[in-house]
Amino acid sequence: MGSGTAFIPPCDNAEPNFPEQWRLYYMSERIKTFSNWPFTEDCACTPEKMAEAGFIHCPSENSPDVVRCFFCLKELEGWQPEDDPMDEHRQHSPSCLFIALKKKAEQLTLSEFLKLDLERVKIEMQKQMNQHIGIFQTRAGEVKKKLEELDADD
Ligand SMILES: [Zn+2]
Repeated sequence: MGSGTAFIPPCDNAEPNFPEQWRLYYMSERIKTFSNWPFTEDCACTPEKMAEAGFIHCPSENSPDVVRCFFCLKELEGWQPEDDPMDEHRQHSPSCLFIALKKKAEQLTLSEFLKLDLERVKIEMQKQMNQHIGIFQTRAGEVKKKLEELDADD
């Protein structure tokens, strides 16, 4: 592979051996997540526009329209038909490297791709770490409360 060769081939079916997180670099893979999306016609936030802006649809019972940028992991909900996905993404996550790309992810070279993906992994790990810290702090708070109760019994 020469240095100028695109790493991710532009095709409709992502390389099946790619890990899930890499498959999401394909716009076609992101579009697939919007099969149950309410805004499909006469609006700015169609599945295509959402996917183009890096979003995947990850609805829950209480948040049916929540989407997440597969790269910076920013979650947005409460969409209106006139919302422009790329504008919303820029506004709420201005430092996202995915929306700063000068070319499509499918056109990145291997070294460009790996450099970019390293940043994605860092964001992912930071998020996981923050979740663990949150869980730890909650538990620590509970233990502290119990100890204080014991102390008060004396
Ligand atoms: Zn993003």
